[in-house]
Order: sequence, then structure tokens, then C-alpha cells
Amino acid sequence: MSQQHAQKLLDFIDNSPSPWHAAMSTAMALEKKCFQRLDERDAWKLAAGGRYYVVRDGSSIIGFIIGDGDPIKHGFRIIGAHTDSPGLRVKPNAAYTDGLMVRLGVEVYGGPILATFTDRDLGLAGRIVVKTGPAPTDIDTQLIHFDKPLVRIPNLAIHLNRDVNEKGLKLDRQEELPMMLSVLQEDLPAQQQFRAIIANKMDIEADAILSWELHVFDTQPGCFFGPDDQFIANGQLDNLASCHAGLCALLDEAVLDPKTTNLIAYFDHEEVGSQSSKGAGGRFLPDILERISIALNLDRESQKRANANSFLLSADMAHAYHPNYKKFYDGEHKVVINSGPVIKINSNQRYTSESVSEALFARLCEQAEVPYQKYVHRTNLPCGSTIGPQIAAQLGIRSVDVGNPLWSMHSARESAGTLDHHYMIRVMTGFFAN
Ligand SMILES: [Zn+2]
Repeated sequence: MSQQHAQKLLDFIDNSPSPWHAAMSTAMALEKKCFQRLDERDAWKLAAGGRYYVVRDGSSIIGFIIGDGDPIKHGFRIIGAHTDSPGLRVKPNAAYTDGLMVRLGVEVYGGPILATFTDRDLGLAGRIVVKTGPAPTDIDTQLIHFDKPLVRIPNLAIHLNRDVNEKGLKLDRQEELPMMLSVLQEDLPAQQQFRAIIANKMDIEADAILSWELHVFDTQPGCFFGPDDQFIANGQLDNLASCHAGLCALLDEAVLDPKTTNLIAYFDHEEVGSQSSKGAGGRFLPDILERISIALNLDRESQKRANANSFLLSADMAHAYHPNYKKFYDGEHKVVINSGPVIKINSNQRYTSESVSEALFARLCEQAEVPYQKYVHRTNLPCGSTIGPQIAAQLGIRSVDVGNPLWSMHSARESAGTLDHHYMIRVMTGFFAN
């Protein structure tokens, strides 16, 4: 079973090379199970037992099943995660020449380990907006996915960079990250050449392309490794592994508690701070919860009471213990691959877990017969954060930050445990079942 779950995760990631694709993959899985898409511009009529989902600006998505019990008493149960991953983004006027080489300039999105993007078989994926008619509003957004290697950042030969192994691979973001695309064709300026490649791929006229958001990803498919396939490797395990686990839990109708409104809420822009209209720090989730409450005829006080009975399970990956780098871990809080989900704790509220939510998650693990671990960052290192604190602060609901152990977080290719993914699905399924 754990192999099957992990294989499905690898497939989910391979089909989701950008946050827009991650939202689409999630939406497709929900549609298969008869979830109905809602538009935020429409008036909503929601029924108990109804299954719905909403997408905001293509890359944040909330899916939910309306409970048939008392909405005040049961509140909302929410699994939160993020759809974006750090990496490189293609600039608007990306293509330029140097010598005869056409290169694509990039911005750095969030905090990737830049060196891991060198010498990899890179593809591009995201969305483009095209002109469809004469009026300014005649535009259409289309997803684009170059699933074969298209660009590359070749390393400098060691003969020209003799101390790379002593000093590490440092890349100047402006000068040394542009990606090799092609050799210049004499009759076509670089920017036109790149636009023609996109137009060809999408079967449209190059002149119709107005804008794009293009994410650079590693085209190598996900894989198992280790003697018994104990480990998995892929890009974007942070945080599509959490998205996939929550999705599996919501779609497991055999055990789902029908009385409570259960939601998955996946946000773009976590890697850049979540402060956007569709980010976890924005109004997306508060708006959707409010609209569900309105549709269920709750007055304002009842909405607040429903929120007070709610719980957020904020899922993002955790730093697995790496025995080659012992000094970076607190000796008593090493979290080990394939040893179960991690409760992330930080007294400075970089994570939302407090003793009560920590205990509730521990009980869920016990009930699911899944081991769990507790992570605290080294006291002398600054701790990262995630969507949990931003959502909990806005909604005022109880929350716990959890996640599976992961090696090389923010590498172009991360690795994790086969068994852990299965464990997390079991705990999340239990969360929606209680
Ligand atoms: Zn993350």
C-alpha cells in the first residue's frame, strides 16, 4: 500500500510542474469524484453533503464537502498546504544573445538551492495569456507544459573553476543563471525565436501572446531509490507531497465523517511570503469559509462560533535528519525518514503548534497506528515558517503545523520516505473521519 501511495504521489508531481498545474491536477482529481466547480463571481447555493471546489487565479484551490451536522457545533476541519515550489521564473523579455547563443534570463522565485539547477534537464511550465479578439477583455489563459528538456544551465568546467569543491558552487543571479536555449538563427531575433517556440507548442500565432508566468522545472520523472524502494526522489516534494496526502484523505469517502464540513486549502505564493490575493495571508480561505457559512444561513455570531469549533492541520515538509551534517540538528529533536509524520514546534510562533494542538495531532497518529516525531529547530539557527501562522492569525482558529521528513528541501530534486507518505495519508484520513 505504501508503494502505491508513493507512486501516485510521484505521478501527481510529474503532472504538476508548476503551481497552476498543481491546482489543475487537484481540480481534476476532485472532478473525478463529482466535486462541482464554483465561480467566486456567482451566487452560491450549497447543500449538505454537496462537494465543491473553488480556484482563485489558477494556482490556489479550496475543495470541500459540506457536512450534514450542526455547522456551529462541528465547525470546519481544514488541511492546508501550498502549491508553489521555489525555483526560477522566466523574465518577460527573457531571450537575448551573447555570441551566437540565445539565453533566457530568469528571476529567482523564493529560496531554491540554486546550484541544484545546474546540469539538469530543465523544462518550462506555467501559463500564458493570449489575445482572442479586438476588445481589451478578449484574452484567454492557457496552461503550457514543455515536458521535454528545453533549457539548461551548464556548469563551468572545473579546469576554469579549480576551487569549486573547496568554496562551493556560487552563482551570480544576474550573470550566471541565464539558461541556454539555442544557437541564434540568423533571420530571427532572439525574443522572436523564443516566442515562436511557445507559439508552436501552443499552436497559436506568436503575435497573440501577451504575457506569461513560466516556471523552470526538472523534467526527470520521480523515482524510488534504496534497496527496497524505501525512498522517493522528485522535484517539488515540498509541498506537493502534503497536497497529495490531503487530497487522498478528502477523497476517501469510505471513512469520511458526513457531519463536519471538511476542506483542503492549497495556496500559491507560500515560498514568497503568502501575502497576495490568493496566498495564505490573503482573503481566499476566510472568504470561502464566510461564503459557506452564509450559504448555510449562519448569522455572524454563529459564524464565529463555527470558527471557534474549527481546526487547521497545516501541512508542509520538515527537515529530516541528515547524518552527514549532524551539527545542524538539535540532538533530541532529530526527525528521521520513514519514522512518521513530524509535529513542528517553535515557541516564537514560526509554527502554530501549541501543546493542545500538538496533543490532538499525537492522538490522531495513535488512532491511525502511525508513529510520530517532534521537531524543534536548533536554538542558534533561525527557523523557517509556513502557511499555518498566517491562516491561524487571520481566522483565530486552533492549528497544528505538521509535515513529513524531507532531505534537501528546496533542491531541484528532493528526497523523502516511501512509508512516511502512507503514514501521512492515514493520519489525514483519520482527521477527516473523526
Ligand atoms: Zn513548503
